[in-house]
Amino acid sequence: GGSGSASTIKQVKLERESELRIEVGNDAPLRLRLLNGTAEIFGTELPPEIWLNFPPRLKFAVFTWFGATIEMDGATETDYTADEGPRVIVVGPTDSGKSTLSRMLLSWAAKQGWKPTFVDLDIGQGSITIPGCIAATPIEMPIDPVEGIPLEMPLVYFYGHATPSNNVELYKVLVKELSGMIERQFTGNAESRASGMVINTMGWIEGVGYDLLLHAIRTFKANVVLVLGQEKLCSMLKDVLKSEPKVDVVKLQRSGGVVSRNAKVRQKARSYRIREYFYGLSNDLSPHSNIANFSDLFVYRVGGGPQAPRSALPIGAEPAADPTRVVPVNINRDLLHLVLAVSFAKEPDEIISSNVAGFIYVTDIDIQRKKITYLAPSSGELPSKYLIMGSLTWLET
Ligand code: ADP
Repeated sequence: GGSGSASTIKQVKLERESELRIEVGNDAPLRLRLLNGTAEIFGTELPPEIWLNFPPRLKFAVFTWFGATIEMDGATETDYTADEGPRVIVVGPTDSGKSTLSRMLLSWAAKQGWKPTFVDLDIGQGSITIPGCIAATPIEMPIDPVEGIPLEMPLVYFYGHATPSNNVELYKVLVKELSGMIERQFTGNAESRASGMVINTMGWIEGVGYDLLLHAIRTFKANVVLVLGQEKLCSMLKDVLKSEPKVDVVKLQRSGGVVSRNAKVRQKARSYRIREYFYGLSNDLSPHSNIANFSDLFVYRVGGGPQAPRSALPIGAEPAADPTRVVPVNINRDLLHLVLAVSFAKEPDEIISSNVAGFIYVTDIDIQRKKITYLAPSSGELPSKYLIMGSLTWLET
């Protein structure tokens, strides 16, 4: 934007479902008219070709569903079309301040009236939901310094492990599912799309970790890559992304205030996070202990198990485990102390492509009576009988 000196008429073409946000200058009114197409201001249609006068300092937006051309005459403080928002991805080693920076960017954007989508790909330390998941949620208000990210209706996919090396292929598939779902939601929500997203990533930046970062950058079509405190990672990404002209790679200093956490502290933080899911940050939630028959629930794990019998393979080839195969699991004492996800899938073959409703924690398995006791956020029936297990355990303390 910028404030023009002389009164200059300019035309702005708006693509379908985009918005032109305007702040009329301090000193003079703004004249505006619809040249062609259809457009509205906060729900009210603009009449064609008639000049409208807006007084100084007024802030408003012209939105078009199907495309329009607007003509403006006068000084505006800022004006920009908001069809595709920035897609910022924050990368860097563990404890470089990625989650913190993501949070700051989201809060600043929310404070300005945007509704950015927070995407958290860090399965080690989930800030949207429990560890072992990738998730997304719209941020409509600056993030509460105590409560953190609001937990209403996040979009969550369950990976089931705290490190991606357990099943790299599954991690990639879920990242793709999540981005596809967000893309679909953006199609129907111009405001979200215009607000863009902030994507937090894992601290694993070497080898496969680096491949996964690139995969995330490309899958989410990130156009700004913020690299925290790592010269080498920054130059590698700059180099590999230079053929993708719409991507800016920016190196930022790691804040001196970031606290380093060792593996043990990290493990503890995971455990607290799971506790928080069931009991709330300050014990303000009352989870419910439920009992079900083995026959009422269907537990699946993803990956493992041979893909094809040896006899069906070329001589000398080893049967590879299919990393995204959904395998039914018998309920037995191995499930004790596992955190299971409750899938929204309607059929077992939808498990990978479905997000999850929430989690349960297995507190007892009675083999004799074929009963499973579990902790759930509430009493009553689970939203689905399909449960997913991974390697995520928790010891209630
Ligand atoms: P990453 O996501 O890269 O692993 P985080 O953003 O989670 O790193 O930061 C690590 C820890 O440091 C967190 O507990 C965070 O709250 C804390 N932290 C970050 N910046 C500051 C700061 N400026 N002062 C104090 N603590 C900070």
